Amino acid sequence: MFVTKKKVNGKDYYYLQKSIREGNKIKSECIAYLGKDKEEADKRAAEIIEKIKKEEWRVKDMGDGEENKENMVNENKKEEKSKLSIDEKASSIFTIEELTTFCKRKGFVYPSAEIYGGLAGFWDFGPLGVELKNNLKREWWKYHVYQREDIAGIDGSIITNPKVWKASGHADNFTDVYVKCKKCKKPSKIDKKDIGKVKCECDGEYEVIGDFNLMFKTNVGPVETENSLAYLRPETAQLIFADFKFVQENSRLKLPFGIAQIGKSFRNEISPRDFLFRCREFEQMEIEYFIHPEKRKECSYFEELENFELNVYSEEMQKTGKDSVKMKIKDAVEKEIIKLKWHGYWLANETKWFLELGADKNKFRVRQHLSEEKSHYATDTWDLQYKFPFGWQELEGIADRGNFDLSQHEKFSKEDLKIFDEETKTKVLPHVVCEPSLGVERAFLVFMFDAYNFDEKRQNIVLKLNPKLAPIKAAVFPIVKQPEYNKLAEDIVRDLRKEFNVVYDKSGSIGRRYARNDEAGTIACITVDEQSLKDKTITLRDRDTAEQVRVKIPELKEIMRKVINEGSSILEFGKKVSTRVK
Ligand code: ATP
Repeated sequence: MFVTKKKVNGKDYYYLQKSIREGNKIKSECIAYLGKDKEEADKRAAEIIEKIKKEEWRVKDMGDGEENKENMVNENKKEEKSKLSIDEKASSIFTIEELTTFCKRKGFVYPSAEIYGGLAGFWDFGPLGVELKNNLKREWWKYHVYQREDIAGIDGSIITNPKVWKASGHADNFTDVYVKCKKCKKPSKIDKKDIGKVKCECDGEYEVIGDFNLMFKTNVGPVETENSLAYLRPETAQLIFADFKFVQENSRLKLPFGIAQIGKSFRNEISPRDFLFRCREFEQMEIEYFIHPEKRKECSYFEELENFELNVYSEEMQKTGKDSVKMKIKDAVEKEIIKLKWHGYWLANETKWFLELGADKNKFRVRQHLSEEKSHYATDTWDLQYKFPFGWQELEGIADRGNFDLSQHEKFSKEDLKIFDEETKTKVLPHVVCEPSLGVERAFLVFMFDAYNFDEKRQNIVLKLNPKLAPIKAAVFPIVKQPEYNKLAEDIVRDLRKEFNVVYDKSGSIGRRYARNDEAGTIACITVDEQSLKDKTITLRDRDTAEQVRVKIPELKEIMRKVINEGSSILEFGKKVSTRVK
């Protein structure tokens, strides 16, 4: 096994390869992606090789075959398994490529219209993926809208009056750069900020050809004219600004307040990559938070979270080569590392959302934008970052936009967007002090990475998603395929389905049904057995421990409610019984 480097758009990517003999040819095959940093790649490669050498592996057949086939292992199959085992070994070390494969195999995410070869940057969410995505959006909405007094929601259109994009600056400034290699003449596209910094994969310098706007264009109406030109929105923020005054009046919001929105955005990204991380069609969950322009320093919510600890990576730390530092937001604000209380508050509030839903605390960091990388409108910007297998990356940008957007929309629409502030009895054009803007797909990746576990004892993947996020809340099995067992299981399914997403699973051995559901992240497996017919009890198996308790059927709904909404453990609700699969 050996480490190789590939150059894409002038950047280095490292992979672990192995050589395999096919007839009299030697072929090289990729085992794992190792990241962009040489030193880290070597370390990771050593870990993977070590793991492969040390451990005993067993390839699981996850098919749906009948129980009696389960133990049929002939010599051919054994051979096939030992050939597969090296890939299986590498797959327990989780990379973005492996997550992509897992998501496709289980029906979380497919390349869009793959039967036609797919389309780069576009993805379809399958039966499990759509549930996880909807749950994630619902949890975001509950936390940011329902549980607060100061935020109201909207759902703006994807195509709108193109003047919106003139006012926002997107029509003129939302661009990347087309380049051509001076040596091999290959055309490519790079980010504006990379001009002069990146080279072609052949090591040639790039020649800048021109700008490229990332907005997708379309045409409204039957005739294509200059006036019918419209755009698919590249961000959700602008309709919040355009509708700002109506929303404030209708919801009778008083400063400070926010407007939230979840919806699709489209960007003709130059190089969509890293699975869902950079797509051309994605969703944003966004808030524009408005404050009185003269009260930028007052943050009414700060005390609620002042002791919340963040992993802070300021501009100064980046420029002097220091590491990020863990500190309470009150200390970060006191030391003027985070300048505004509002910023500290929103960075903490957003991190808290992830942690409450089970994300790994150690993989979060807040990074201040360097002065040279800030957007044209922003006075200060912080990113909430997550440590993906391909490095620290932005999950959510939290910019201080001042009154840039509202004043632009005032100018272009010639409408007065000022509102009356009752406290100061003045008309003001509010400032947007924070704009938490999170990609649904990036949050999806975080929860998948943190939930994915390879259970050594079960020799199976267990997706330990927070119960609120889990796509399937329970799977109901009759232990044997007999009418009275089926009937009772079906009654349970019908009743639970009034409230929860529940599956009825009667094919394959019990072991396979458990394994299939562990991989899907199903919180509970409910088995109807002999005793169920006698005393109306079932066994309830906990995904994370594989242990089970016996409970009464009429109590099931309330138990599931407590497990999902209050974080109770399944094992609290009954007497432990021995497990069927050791
Ligand atoms: P990046 O620097 O990664 O391109 P950005 O700073 O342009 O992101 P914003 O315009 O601040 O992104 O968008 C807010 C959020 O929307 C991002 O933090 C990210 O979560 C999400 N997002 C932006 N572009 C994409 C994309 N192409 N695919 C998936 N999510 C995206």
